[in-house]
This record gives sequence, C-alpha cells and structure tokens, in this order.
Amino acid sequence: TVGAIGYGAYEIYGKRHPLEQKPFDPKKRTVVVLGSGWGAVSFLKSINTDDYNVMVVSPRNYFLFTPLLPSCTVGTIELRSIMEPIRFITQHKSRNVKFYESECTDIDPESKTISITDVSDIKGSVSNTTVPYDYLVMAIGADNQTFGMAGVREFACFLKEIWDAQKIRTRLMDCVESAGFAKQAPEEVDRLLHMVVVGGGPTGVEYAAELHDFLKDDLEVWYPELADKFRITLVEALPNVLPMFSSQLIQYTESTFKQNKIEVLTKTMVKEVADKEIKVMDANKNLVSIPYGLLVWATGNCPRPLARKLMARIKEAQTSPRGILVDDYMRVAGAPDVYAIGDCTFSKYAPTAQVATQQGLYLASVFENLARMEEGQNKKITPFEYSHQGSLAYIGSDKAIADLPFLNGNVSVGGVATYVFWRSVYISNMFSFRNRFLVVGDWMKSKVFGRDVSR
Ligand code: FAD
Ligand code: NAD
Repeated sequence: TVGAIGYGAYEIYGKRHPLEQKPFDPKKRTVVVLGSGWGAVSFLKSINTDDYNVMVVSPRNYFLFTPLLPSCTVGTIELRSIMEPIRFITQHKSRNVKFYESECTDIDPESKTISITDVSDIKGSVSNTTVPYDYLVMAIGADNQTFGMAGVREFACFLKEIWDAQKIRTRLMDCVESAGFAKQAPEEVDRLLHMVVVGGGPTGVEYAAELHDFLKDDLEVWYPELADKFRITLVEALPNVLPMFSSQLIQYTESTFKQNKIEVLTKTMVKEVADKEIKVMDANKNLVSIPYGLLVWATGNCPRPLARKLMARIKEAQTSPRGILVDDYMRVAGAPDVYAIGDCTFSKYAPTAQVATQQGLYLASVFENLARMEEGQNKKITPFEYSHQGSLAYIGSDKAIADLPFLNGNVSVGGVATYVFWRSVYISNMFSFRNRFLVVGDWMKSKVFGRDVSR
C-alpha cells in the first residue's frame, strides 16, 4: 500500500518514477554541476538529459527559496515550505541525474577531475573521492562577508541558509525568555531585548522588517511586561539603506522604519564585535559601544574557499579577488570546459537569484546548441544578456517596495498594494506547486492563529 501511495504521488505530480529514467550512457559526455541553489536548479530544470549524463554535487540535498528565508526566522513561514528536495526537481528528467550530498573541495582543470567529501554526520567507509567530468558547472554561491573581523562568526548570526534562520529564531526566543527571568537586572533586560542588524542591504532591511512584525503582532501580546523594552537597530556604513533602490523608495523605507520605531544608524560602521556588544564608528567618527542581545550580520558576499582555491590555481587568468571571472558565455577564464554562474562569479550584475536563474537557463541553452552542433546542425552560440525584471523588498507592516522597469523608464512603488504584488511574485516564482501550497497555507495559518512563540 505504501508503495502504491508513493507511486501515486509521482503520478499526481506528473513526474517520472526514478526507475523509469534512463541510466547513465558511457557514450555521452558528463556534466557535473556543483551546487543546488538558484543557478544550479535553473540549469538542471532546462538541461536536456537526452544529450548528457548529469551529476550534481552539493552539501545540501535540497533547493532553498532564499527570498522567503527572512519570514522563516520569525515563523510566518515554516522552513520546510521553502525547501524542495533536489530529487523532486530531477525526477522530471528523461535520464537519471546522479546526486552526491557532498562538498567539492578541489577542482583540477588539467586532469578534469574534482575532489568531493561526504558532509553527512554519518559516513560510510568512503568519504573522500575524486570524480571526472567532461564539463563542470560551478554554481556554488558565495560566503558571508565578515571582512575578517574577529567575533563575527563566533557571536553574530548570518542569514543565508536554513540553519541560520533556525539559529536566529532560537537566539531571539532565548533573549526574550532570559529577559523575563526572575530578578533580571533592568540594564540586562534592555541589552537582551536589543536586536541589532548590521548591513542595510535588502537582507538586513527585510530581516528588520520581519522582526518588527513579530514583535508588534506576537511578542508584545504574549510578553506584555516586556512590551515597551523591545528595540531594533539597523546599522549601515553608507549614507542610506538599500542603495540599489530609487531615492524615493529609500526615503519611503526609512520613514516606514521610523514609524515602526526601528532605529536606522547610517554612516555608521561596525569596527569590533564582542559577545554582548559591538563597537561602531558613528557619523561623527566617534567609537561607540552598542550592547545587544541578538546580532544579525548581513554585510554582503565574498568568494567561498573552493572559488578562492580555483582562482589561486589559475591566477594568471583570475585577477579579481571578488569572484570567479567568466566571459560572456559563462566560461571560467583560464579553465577550459569549466563554467560558472550566479553569486560565485564576479560580474557586472548584482548577485541576485534573478541573475543566477537567467544564467542557469542560458547555460542549458548553450549545452543544447553544443549538442546540436556536434550532430552537424548549424547553430550559433550568442553571449549571455541579462534582462532586469525589477527589484522588490518587504519593509514591514504589510508594506513592500518595488522598482520595476516600465517601457523605457522605471516605476517606483511602495505600500500595501505592493506587498500583495510582492507576495504574488514570490509565489509564482516558486519552483513547485507543493512549495506554493505550503507557503500559502503558512500565511493563512499565521494570520489566523498568530506566529508560534515557542523556542
Ligand atoms: P546559492 O543559491 O547560494 O546556491 C549555492 C549552492 O552551492 C548551495 O546549494 C550550496 O550548498 C552549494 N555549495 C556551496 N559550496 C559548495 C561546494 N564546495 N561544492 C558544491 N556545492 C557547494 N535574490 C533575488 O533576486 N531576489 C530576492 O528576493 C532575494 N532575496 C534574498 C534573501 C536572502 C535572505 C538572501 C540570503 C538572498 C536573497 N537573494 C535574492 C539573493 C539570492 O539568494 C542569491 O543571489 C542566489 O541564491 C544565488 O544563487 P546561486 O545559485 O549562485 O547560489
Ligand atoms: P548587500 O551587499 O546588498 O548589502 C550589505 C550592506 O552592508 C551594504 O549596504 C554595506 O554598506 C553594509 N556594510 C558592510 N560592512 C559594514 C559594516 N562594517 N558596518 C555597517 N554596514 C556595513 O548584502 P545583502 O543585503 O546581504 O544582499 C546580498 C545580495 O543578495 C545582494 O545582491 C542583494 O541584492 C541580494 N538580495 C536581494 C534581495 C531582494 O531582492 N529582496 C533580498 C536579499 C538579498
């Protein structure tokens, strides 16, 4: 019965049972894809597995819909609702896609092999091996930028992965419960309930916005004795938050934050991070201490160790420390048959899901054309062209902002209607019906019952 139900699910989804997929064909070339994020999944969805054997190596056996990750830190959305197992994604394919839950630790472009390490806690007798490739697609994303500042990794929380959202959630509730502990000193209550976000880019702004909603809608209701003590501060080194948005939307965001009592410290740069306080250089160049309970660090991206290792190996061609240099066809400079897409590259576009998705789709079409050209067909491979579809961000109290390209200009809108638009765009961009169903369910659940305040 269980088997029949399981198989039924495949039929409902209109997908293939893994046993119905063709096996690897030794006569076909093998494409190894590193990563299971936006770039990799967009490539995997479009690559024609009749032409190639495809293998995926990633320490995560799921895709993560990052735009809704800030909502997971406060329980508006459940984490599993924005995760999609990689095997669900590849079951559409005509040929079986091999998946190894492991980290690629080295790339040797001369022997065309990669070294991989099993990352699971429970390992078999083999946990390190090498794998050959004909073509390699790097879609490994980026690391959190810390500028090498001591204390950041130890005391702050990032917001990039599932475990980051879980850690933020646990620390937040720990701060709240500790603040309510018997005979807690008043200055300690103030510190514990001070939530500091570093970085006024979209990650920092969206997190501060979600945190505000959680405090207002739920925590102040369940912890009335602490209600007037909660504080949120956003620290940004530049003169304003969200530099990629129009000045009108920057102003709108800053005034919404003011109304929502989120303190925004611009022209303020974090210089030191300790366990209970940060030291910042303020706009007047004074070094000031800010005590905190929860510290969220969102100061952008830097290359992952694997990208740095490859760049060092082919340093004559890789001259930027900020990411892998690729040409207009996504080919890695200095490494034949290696391609790179998304946040791991250094390109003229911002590192966004939008860019990674378009690059993944483009690269799959390049591989399609290469296969047709090998068959003797007359095909031309054109360079990648990015088409910007606009920028969106949630700013709290059911308001969002949107900068949208319109005719030859730009439209900047913000407010509650934009929030409805924000929701519909994200829902329609989710990869599966299953994810959409779960996220809409979570939105309804948190509206009806409120957010869960358990640890
Ligand atoms: P990722 O999606 O990060 O995927 C990288 C993959 O590589 C992961 O599966 C990782 O496990 C794997 N990997 C890492 N190291 C290795 C290794 N050594 N070997 C093999 N695999 C490896 N962008 C937007 O356009 N709109 C948004 O609204 C938006 N919201 C965001 C919200 C948040 C909170 C964050 C953090 C980002 C947001 N972004 C948004 C940016 C977007 O998530 C990234 O630009 C996008 O994820 C980049 O895709 P990618 O495939 O390059 O990397
Ligand atoms: P970011 O690079 O966009 O912003 C980081 C901010 O941190 C910058 O404004 C920088 O001035 C500030 N900063 C750096 N060091 C600092 C310091 N020591 N003290 C104070 N401030 C400091 O980074 P992000 O917000 O993590 O976003 C990363 C990428 O993901 C971007 O390309 C972004 O567009 C994308 N993203 C998009 C969305 C969206 O479209 N809604 C949401 C999240 C992320």
